[in-house]
Order: sequence, then structure tokens, then C-alpha cells
Amino acid sequence: MRRKLVAGNWKMNGGLAANAELLAGIKAGLDNPRCDIAVCVPSPYLSQCAKDVAGSAISLGAQDVSAQDSGAYTGETSAKMLLEFGCRYAIVGHSERRSYHGETDEAVAQKTVRAIANGVVPIVCVGETLSEREAGKTNDVVGRQVDAVLAAIGADGLGKIVIAYEPVWAIGTGKTATPEMAQEVHAEIRAKLVKLDAQAGEKVQILYGGSMKPDNAKALMSMADIDGGLIGGASLKAADFLAIIAAA
Ligand code: PEP
Repeated sequence: MRRKLVAGNWKMNGGLAANAELLAGIKAGLDNPRCDIAVCVPSPYLSQCAKDVAGSAISLGAQDVSAQDSGAYTGETSAKMLLEFGCRYAIVGHSERRSYHGETDEAVAQKTVRAIANGVVPIVCVGETLSEREAGKTNDVVGRQVDAVLAAIGADGLGKIVIAYEPVWAIGTGKTATPEMAQEVHAEIRAKLVKLDAQAGEKVQILYGGSMKPDNAKALMSMADIDGGLIGGASLKAADFLAIIAAA
């Protein structure tokens, strides 16, 4: 059985005092968790949060990573830099980066490759927009996004990634895919992974993201191929994040 992962995506939220309070609240409420836990924090706070999660069950993650190792790339952060701050994970290809920063499937694939090469586990986000779903294109879109990454990392990379299926219409909207809708897409993704390598493909954690909350987390994570959650809004409240961890 795959271990579940509950990862918080703080997005551009927080501050020194708020981060300390949130992490203290989460740590205080953790009771022998049986899943992997991560918080993906804004880059300026990596150092602060690395210290705050040290020695706890919480791993640290970033929200993006550069496709380059170093050089004249203003504003970017390399996987090596993330590692120096103890980052285990980096979110790659979040829909907000795909839509606001024009990240293409190829760019997302290159970021995934760089993360893996440097020992950072990429949480690769894929998902369709509402109009794509309504046009019956969900599997095509998600399939294309997954294929681009698999073509770049090959079967050897499978053991080093996490995938997050995040329907764009469900992110931050309060609308959630039903467990059955999400499972259908997760199963399609799983089939692609298994086709590349049967054993390694079965082991990849596929998270669901999109308005996962304490009241729907258990039903979603009970589905066969839903191996945890990438949590936005609900990861900013210790009680909600802890309730999702308990559901996992
Ligand atoms: C996200 O941004 O990855 C996300 C899933 O956000 P929310 O939980 O707020 O929908």
C-alpha cells in the first residue's frame, strides 16, 4: 500500500509571525502521524521554516524550482539552493504558474528533470480547466501534461516524483471534484505510469488538489489511486490541516 502525503501549498501567504504560529500549531497537534507531511512555503521563508520544522514529522518544500542550475536567471531559485535549506519537495507546474507565468509542458518537464537531478522531489501538478472539462478534453489535457514529464524523466525518474492532479476549476473555488471524478483521472494517470514501468508506476504517490477540506478529505483519500492531497487554503489553518492529516 502506498503511504499518503499531505502537502500544504501556502502560496503567497504568511509572514514571520504567522508562519511561526502556524507551524507551532501544526506541530503541537501532530499525534504520531501515519502519513508523509510537507509544507511548501514562499522562498523568503525557507530558512525560517527549515528551523521551525527541524526534528518534526513535517518536511519542507518550495513552490517552484528553476529549470537551470545557476547563472543569469534573475528571480529564479535552483534546486541546489532549495536543498541547502533542507527542501525535500518542490511544487512544479502549478496551474497558477502555468497560467500567470506561461509555463509550458516542456518548461514544467525541464524543471522536473532539474529537481530530480539535484535530489529534490518534484510535486508535478497537472489538471484541466473548466472549459476543457466541459468539452470532454480532461483525459487529453492531463494525458498531454503527464506525457511531457514522463518523456523527459523516463522510467528511471518514476521513483523520484509525486504527481498532483489539480482540476483548475476546483482550486480555491470551494468546488471539489467528487471522489469518483477524481479517481477516474487518477486511474488514467496511474495507467500511464504503469505502462512505463509496472512496479515503479504502482509506487508513485498521486495527490488530489482542489478545495480539499476536512469534510471531504477522507472520502477523496479513500479512493484507490488518491494517495494524499495538495492543500491550498486549508493548509493555512492549523486545525484544518491537522484534520486532513488525520483523515489520511
Ligand atoms: C492549490 O493551490 O494547490 C490548491 C489545491 O488550493 P485550494 O486547496 O485552496 O483549492
